Amino acid sequence: MPDVAVVGGGPAGLSAALFTAKNDLETVVFDTDETAMHAAWLYNYLGIESIAGDEFMEIARKQVDDHGAERRQGEEVTDVERADDGFTVTTDSGEYDAEYVVFTTGRSRDLAEGLGCELADDGTVEIDTNNATTVENAYAAGWTARADKIQAAISVGGGAAAGLDILSAEKGRAFHDFDTPKEEE
Ligand SMILES: Cc1cc2nc3c(=O)[nH]c(=O)nc-3n(C[C@H](O)[C@H](O)[C@H](O)COP(=O)(O)OP(=O)(O)OC[C@H]3O[C@@H](n4cnc5c(N)ncnc54)[C@H](O)[C@@H]3O)c2cc1C
Repeated sequence: MPDVAVVGGGPAGLSAALFTAKNDLETVVFDTDETAMHAAWLYNYLGIESIAGDEFMEIARKQVDDHGAERRQGEEVTDVERADDGFTVTTDSGEYDAEYVVFTTGRSRDLAEGLGCELADDGTVEIDTNNATTVENAYAAGWTARADKIQAAISVGGGAAAGLDILSAEKGRAFHDFDTPKEEE
């Protein structure tokens, strides 16, 4: 059983998956590859002067794969329900149980709403500062939780916050994923 099911593999979902997979939580990402990044060219992502959205996605996917996440590309999630000890994620080709779920479905919020996550007045999924929704152990990030003023950097930040909160819950203490140059020596 995966620890974390990430629904949507755009910048927000891949960022959440990077943190959880890198820190040894079994992580599965489902993605139908309709990310807005395919239409974007970035000049405003700090640390990268200029990059095509497609190339950004290629690098991000490889990075997440290299850290051990299982990326189920092309597999659509059709339902997420509460189960005894977590969630049951139904896709167009199977069923998966997971302890945590992260909704990063871009502008589509139906799955989170179907699970019972409260929506804000603007129709986005209501979250706290850790990107937790009103349903325990369910998170939302990126466009799913923001109506406008959205950028790739904001989605990546939201996914990171969700990933860190899940890791903190698992470890029972506030967790920072801090690496140092020593690890590269
Ligand atoms: C024309 C255009 C230009 C842009 N230019 C810039 C720019 O210059 N700089 C910048 O920072 N941002 C730019 N953006 C915005 C940027 O693309 C978004 O901020 C970013 O893609 C949002 O990331 P996200 O992960 O929140 O959502 P998305 O990128 O939309 O990813 C959501 C993913 O979830 C998947 N999904 C949805 N439902 C399901 C399901 N049921 N099962 C499985 N998968 C599912 C989708 O297929 C998609 O891959 C631009 C956007 C557009 C449209």
